[in-house]
Amino acid sequence: MLPSYPAYAILCVLAAARYETPIFLQRSLTSCVILSSPFMWPGDSNEMPSKRQIFKALWIGMIVSVLVIGLASSVFLPVNGVRASGARKITCGQAPSSLADYERWFGSEHAHTGMDGDDGAAGSTAAQAFAYAKNLPHLDYFIITPHVHQSRSGMATLWSEATYDLIRASAISATTSSFVAIAGQEVSTISSGGHWSLFNANDMVGADHPDGDWNDADDYYDHVAGLGVNGEVIAAQFDHPQSGDFGNRYDAGAAPYFGTFAVSSGPATATTAEFVNDGSNSSYQTRWANFLNMGWKLSPAADQDNHGATWGASSSEYTVIVRPHGTTLNAGNVIHGLSDHMTYATEDANMQIGFTANGWSMGQTVGGAANIALTIWWNNPSNTLYNNNTGVTATESANDAIGNIWIYKNSFNSPVATYTPTPSAARGT
Ligand SMILES: [Zn+2]
Ligand SMILES: [Zn+2]
Repeated sequence: MLPSYPAYAILCVLAAARYETPIFLQRSLTSCVILSSPFMWPGDSNEMPSKRQIFKALWIGMIVSVLVIGLASSVFLPVNGVRASGARKITCGQAPSSLADYERWFGSEHAHTGMDGDDGAAGSTAAQAFAYAKNLPHLDYFIITPHVHQSRSGMATLWSEATYDLIRASAISATTSSFVAIAGQEVSTISSGGHWSLFNANDMVGADHPDGDWNDADDYYDHVAGLGVNGEVIAAQFDHPQSGDFGNRYDAGAAPYFGTFAVSSGPATATTAEFVNDGSNSSYQTRWANFLNMGWKLSPAADQDNHGATWGASSSEYTVIVRPHGTTLNAGNVIHGLSDHMTYATEDANMQIGFTANGWSMGQTVGGAANIALTIWWNNPSNTLYNNNTGVTATESANDAIGNIWIYKNSFNSPVATYTPTPSAARGT
């Protein structure tokens, strides 16, 4: 088990992944060669392979994750060392060589308002929430996810397409070249197998998918897969996981769109907007490992699940989307970052991290030998966070450096390797 995290602990867990290698690298490098690739490199053809085609073409046998924990905190890495079968090898130096090869977008993908029966801050709207998050200088994206439960105890239901359309319109008008707002939805009930979120869909999940619709001929997973096949740019996430949630199974059709798993969430009810409250992560990592072992390729998320008027400001926990350097910040690229499981979870608001495993970037499927060589970069500058909405500033410790790196395989029971950076390397390597 992981230790509990003190202030400024860093949950930087990155899952190596399924099929997105060429998509991830295409913008940062030009003349690349993929060996054993069953499909065309984007640019060689006018047609991009669909995610399902790519997913079918590749089988992923390896999961590598990294957890980095700082001085008053920790860093770690789980590794599932099964040799990848049929995976591609990338040549031409495509692998990133430093943190500078990545864009990092800090944000939160789980929050509520008071619109139409949702149980966020009373009377609040998506327009207010987006404006609030946009006014936090360190945030790059924010997603509002109203409950759409059909039978949420004691709450009005939100089966109003008009409200969802309003949230979508608010997101579009709040989006700029430096901040992306997106409409999402949080589906089902905790008592019927857990909450999950759907991001950027054209419509709300309909009443034809009742609470707990995890396993029938037209269940949640089928719905998500269908949206993707129809060309919607969507991503989905498993929220604040409890044991046995989400049907407790793998679904190949939905796998290309479920990219993130909340390893920390909340504090949902916080009304204090000063970056100091901690989210909940009890056993979340264990459940994440369970889902990775089922075959899902999921990167870790740390959302705030704001139910108060603290959108993005109740804690310093964020889901950081990682993209190739030079990628434009826009809604489509945010969604692709989430569905491509190119995220890390952090309890530090400006922690930068990146790694390669046998030369493959975080978020990719690892090919090659069973023994994995990891190269890890990080940088965690001390900084002052500003909450322009409430006039609060929070200054990070000058000693906010990495103390330990732990590597885990298959589970978080005990690390298979550890590394303690020397003080001179404490701010990166
Ligand atoms: Zn929830
Ligand atoms: Zn929620």
